[in-house]
Amino acid sequence: MNLALQLQRSGLAARNAPAVAVGTQVQFTYGQLADRAARIAGGLRGELGLVPGDRVALVMRNCAEYLELLYACWHAGLVAVPVNAKLHTSEFAYILGNSGASLCFTTPDLTAAVVDSAVLAESRVITIGTAAYASLLEARPIDVTAVSPQDAAWMFYTSGTTGKPKGAVLTHRNLLAMSWCYFADVDQQSPWRSMLHLAPMSHGSGLYALPHVMQASCHVIPESAAFEAAEAFALIRHWPASVFFAAPTMVKRLLDHPADTDTRQLKTIIYGGGPMYVDDSLAALDRFGPKLAQLYGQGESPMTITALSARMHAERDHSRWLERLASVGIAQSAVEVRIRSDGDWLAQGEVGEVVVRGDTVMQGYWQQAEESAETLRDGWLHTGDYGCLDAEGFLTLKDRAKDLIISGGNNIYPREVEEVLVSHADVAEVSVIGRPDREWGESVVAYVVAARGRHPDPAALDRYCLERIARYKRPRYYRFIEQLPKNNYGKVLKTRLRELDTAAESAAQQADTTEP
Ligand code: AMP
Repeated sequence: MNLALQLQRSGLAARNAPAVAVGTQVQFTYGQLADRAARIAGGLRGELGLVPGDRVALVMRNCAEYLELLYACWHAGLVAVPVNAKLHTSEFAYILGNSGASLCFTTPDLTAAVVDSAVLAESRVITIGTAAYASLLEARPIDVTAVSPQDAAWMFYTSGTTGKPKGAVLTHRNLLAMSWCYFADVDQQSPWRSMLHLAPMSHGSGLYALPHVMQASCHVIPESAAFEAAEAFALIRHWPASVFFAAPTMVKRLLDHPADTDTRQLKTIIYGGGPMYVDDSLAALDRFGPKLAQLYGQGESPMTITALSARMHAERDHSRWLERLASVGIAQSAVEVRIRSDGDWLAQGEVGEVVVRGDTVMQGYWQQAEESAETLRDGWLHTGDYGCLDAEGFLTLKDRAKDLIISGGNNIYPREVEEVLVSHADVAEVSVIGRPDREWGESVVAYVVAARGRHPDPAALDRYCLERIARYKRPRYYRFIEQLPKNNYGKVLKTRLRELDTAAESAAQQADTTEP
């Protein structure tokens, strides 16, 4: 079942429904979008001579043409390689070279950077809106290419909070299963909707475009092609029944915006991709009403490991409502989720590595047999995330294995300490790391961004922690910084923070020894 058939189906059944808009202006209907994808597919296979299985990179900001290119690739039996537009030129070159993409589409603002990278990687570049692009649209449409469920559809480059990004090979079957889970577990189908692409379409927003093409929602691209809270609220006001995917940091930025904006038309904010602190979930529920749903996934099982549905968010009377809000919900319906440690299965409540198997799990990493075998051991995807399951199947994530702090022989999960500190009125953001310590193995350091106009006092924060968590978990050191280092998806780079901490520490020691 080729994913491209979904667009052709909507092109027939919802021919005149708006398919793509930029800002408030509709650009194409579903009939037009399906036709454009079929023509571009014809051009890719005919004029450009690509053959099924070839990789095509999309180094583009969110734009009206994003979806037609994704679907054109699938229509022609090609593999799309969506690349985060905010990466560095050298990272573009790495991904183009690693994926072996013979062709790369780009938006005009990125052409210069992409051309430099493509020269290194020997890919041909076509910029949206040029004559070369127009000629693809004039090609003769072709039939959807037959594929097998195991054929690659999307090569998802992991966000790489450590090391070089790896290309998770996602098949047509993986993405179909993801789309069905969206309706079964995250956000139920409804007659008509708009999907706002406020987050990069190379990642969660683009993946969740698929179920929305299935049900013929209108895809709305912000004019800024980026995330700006004021623009997001204007689009929410304009478009009926809107849904969007947001990283937790984006939800926080929406909450920081003045509260007088009308969100009655908003249907669902789907958040995930990083930890959301309970305090922020509560603030979002107060502000937007019961319109939140959470997913936990990773590139290796896209958007699909567990979900905390809108209904679960809304059940305020439930005796374990707050506990559930702190969790990432229950296994999505296409996957099995268990907890493992050193090859043993752990019981309820025990913390170990989250492992997953099912129809959404990737085939492996592109041309990385060793890494693939390591990650897909014994038929299970080893996520590298630590967590535990409760008696009702709710998964609570602790931290990435490598972020765990071991101090005086005790395991300390940074997330637990961060949950406490972020609920303090003087704290806007916090990230907790371990610092090597001769006596304790590691000691806990909290990097704190102060709330606007506030001056957090370490002694007060220490008292606050003592009242709420075990003594050994509280930070021994506080460092105050303007902003936390984050990657292009807004995820805090703990590796970078540890490096900064080490550098600051050795500079301080240097100063100590050189003082008279
Ligand atoms: P990526 O492959 O770039 O999407 O990153 C996936 C990683 O983000 C996961 O392995 C988790 O560590 C983290 N993550 C994703 N969703 C959530 C969530 N809902 N809560 C906490 N962490 C999450």
